[in-house]
Amino acid sequence: MGEATALRAAPWVTRDSEFFWEAARREELVAERCADCGILRSPPRPMCPHCNSVARETQVLSGRGSIYTWVIPRYPVVPGFEGTHIVAVIDLEEGIRLVSNICEIAYEDITADMPVEVFFEPMQDGYKIPLFRPAAG
Ligand SMILES: [Zn+2]
Repeated sequence: MGEATALRAAPWVTRDSEFFWEAARREELVAERCADCGILRSPPRPMCPHCNSVARETQVLSGRGSIYTWVIPRYPVVPGFEGTHIVAVIDLEEGIRLVSNICEIAYEDITADMPVEVFFEPMQDGYKIPLFRPAAG
């Protein structure tokens, strides 16, 4: 990610994503879990693809994972960014994947399966966004 001169725009919060963004304000990374069969549903959705239940609950995740794949988007330029930022798919410890940014490391130094950890960066309107960096140690 380039040097941010402005905060990222606030997220588009929906009924299905509100729990995620409210947890991120508290610097918690969460996922939706089926309250009947217990599988994690990512991204959140109204009905469980495994058991068709509409009951849901929230699970706090460890924030640890590894890099599955990564890329630098060149076009179009994203408002709020200067220079490049690295977009990655993260394999979370809990077995689900999340698309986010990898920070605090150069693109050429990233390797597959590299351990990463979440951190939170302020956005507009008091929101925070979960981003990832190489795991300490
Ligand atoms: Zn289920």
